[in-house]
Amino acid sequence: MSGKGLVELVSVHKSYGNRPAVTDVNLRIPSGAYCCLLGPSGCGKSTTLRMLAGHEAVTEGDILMDNRNVTLLSPTQRGTAMMFQNYALFPHMNCLDNVAFGLRIGGMKTAERHARARELLALVNMQDYAQSFPDQLSGGQQQRVALARALITEPDVVLLDEPLSALDPFLRIKMRKELKSIQQKLGLTFIHVTHSQEEAFALADLAVVMEGGRIQQIAEPRELFEQPATPFVAQFIGGHNLLTAQPGARQNDQVQLHFDPQGSGWIDSHRLPAGQGELSFSVRCDHIDLQPGQHPAAAGQFAVTASISDIEFQGQFIYVECTTSTGNTLMAYLPDRHFGQLPLHAGDLVTLSWSAQHLNLFQPQHLNSTAQVAQPAMAI
Ligand code: ADP
Repeated sequence: MSGKGLVELVSVHKSYGNRPAVTDVNLRIPSGAYCCLLGPSGCGKSTTLRMLAGHEAVTEGDILMDNRNVTLLSPTQRGTAMMFQNYALFPHMNCLDNVAFGLRIGGMKTAERHARARELLALVNMQDYAQSFPDQLSGGQQQRVALARALITEPDVVLLDEPLSALDPFLRIKMRKELKSIQQKLGLTFIHVTHSQEEAFALADLAVVMEGGRIQQIAEPRELFEQPATPFVAQFIGGHNLLTAQPGARQNDQVQLHFDPQGSGWIDSHRLPAGQGELSFSVRCDHIDLQPGQHPAAAGQFAVTASISDIEFQGQFIYVECTTSTGNTLMAYLPDRHFGQLPLHAGDLVTLSWSAQHLNLFQPQHLNSTAQVAQPAMAI
């Protein structure tokens, strides 16, 4: 473990001309963390990564590495190494020379460079390909060589721009396991840009969801999925229903929420976000149960009556889409086993229910997702 590689972005802004690309990014990535910058195309992930690498100037704000302000330093002075999406291997050099290249700039002798490059080729399981040229390698092999080349300068922080996107789905899963295992073995900080929530969930200790140049949420993947902070995050990571509700009757320390003329439930009133009026919440599709017919909500449950508008077989689960009489759409993921026991068809009237504990209420300040302010720096 290097014990280095603490990365901080403090109020970082980036504009191209007068068009903002990254706005008010505050982020602390602990030493040795695997951090994924996640979001749709154009949300500012790569710009953030390029600013960390020193390939893009920061318009405002500071970048700190191990408490050292590197904002104005060149890429080679930062202790970072970048692995590009297309691997950017030199086509006229064999693998050994590609990997050793970073040390050539440092002026190291050939024999020493090659010895070190062989060690790194062995680390990524490419020792048998030292004399091969990039066009003789598969995508996965090129990626391993590119990783070895990034690691040879002994960086504290490795920056990876969509490193798996050029690989087929099978290889992508294999390579992401290898990336994680090398990161853990070396104890380096990895910052990995991806638009795939599945990839971020599999890899990240810390996931950062961006949208419109701003951070929407910084969290461990499980927290991101259990408690998306904004409707955008819930929608982007998928598998969530988004609904609005009105608070109604109160009883003891409980308040009733109506999210549909046919749908309501009770929650502890202390869970109510500050302010009155309409609330917004999400509930995971796999937390929803389905019963044929119309049933009242059981204690501690939310329930709504709806008719099935679509059923799709998805392999491990059955996707059931339901529409209430007022047009609210709810999606449920039912385990295949469970679904098989229910005689359900499109057009059937059903009751959807879920535990009040599974209701994820959004805080009002997070509702306008593009106006959300980045969370303060955090540690894990
Ligand atoms: P992502 O990596 O999330 O797809 P980017 O960081 O590449 O997004 O882009 C963020 C925004 O900045 C986009 O609106 C994009 O068009 C703009 N942008 C990125 N690079 C440049 C550039 N070199 N010149 C002008 N605008 C750019």
